[in-house]
Amino acid sequence: AAPNPIHARVAERFANVKNVIVVLSGKGGVGKSTVAAQLAYHLGRAYGAQVGLLDIDICGPSVPTLTSTKGHEIHNSGLGWEPVMVNENLSVMSIGYMLADDDAAVIWRGPRKNSMIQQFVTEVWWGELDYLIIDTPPGTSDEHLSILNLLTPSLKNKPCGAVIVSTPQEVALADVRKEINFCHKVTLPVFGVVENMSGFVCPGCKTETTIFHPSNGGARGMAERMSVPFLGRLPLDMHLVRASEEGRCWAGMVAQMSDIPADEAAQKEQ
Ligand code: ADP
Repeated sequence: AAPNPIHARVAERFANVKNVIVVLSGKGGVGKSTVAAQLAYHLGRAYGAQVGLLDIDICGPSVPTLTSTKGHEIHNSGLGWEPVMVNENLSVMSIGYMLADDDAAVIWRGPRKNSMIQQFVTEVWWGELDYLIIDTPPGTSDEHLSILNLLTPSLKNKPCGAVIVSTPQEVALADVRKEINFCHKVTLPVFGVVENMSGFVCPGCKTETTIFHPSNGGARGMAERMSVPFLGRLPLDMHLVRASEEGRCWAGMVAQMSDIPADEAAQKEQ
């Protein structure tokens, strides 16, 4: 068969992108964009990686806020649309930069969303990236199918997979099962599940309160039953909210998701 010209163009655009991480969630508001943005910051900070963050949540793009880049304009260099540089390790691209008004509702039907996503993957010039992190809308919709259809042929020999974010409640976990099944169906490997808003540690007395009482071991139990990796828990934490709203990296993420003590992680950030 004749090579598809769009796939050929995508392959050329992604030739120097080494790993792709698609961030998914069953429901909105569980912290998917927050985790995507913090993961992007930390891969750059902790490992010195070159990271790109692509926001394809067309109806609710939050990456410009989470990276303090609201209102930036997109320029076209000779090579293509230039992502916005957040710091020396992180560059981002979002539909949010192209909307005239923050409060405008984006009511786009599938074909228009698909053509925007196609433009993102054919026009943006990321250059060399160790990781491209893709923040997607909640659930599984047109956007997910479009991006995967466009990218998959170019990523055949590269590590590419999904990180699924959930809160511990059973209603959220039920949707994660659907996300995992979706990944199996489209043969997207599941890198793992993150349980967000998992408990609240009182800043005063340091006692942890389990706000949501998951049955069957929460996200960890569900990941085990579905034979996918469990990546860790992130607590409800006001510092994470503040860092996110100010478009900053949150030191606690490293501490929570690894064995580095929080104090040490905070010192590393300074
Ligand atoms: P999603 O992308 O799943 O819709 P967001 O990342 O936009 O969710 O997060 C929704 C809200 O919850 C934001 O205000 C965010 O700051 C807050 N949030 C996310 N994770 C946490 C957490 N671990 N602790 C406290 N607030 C959080």
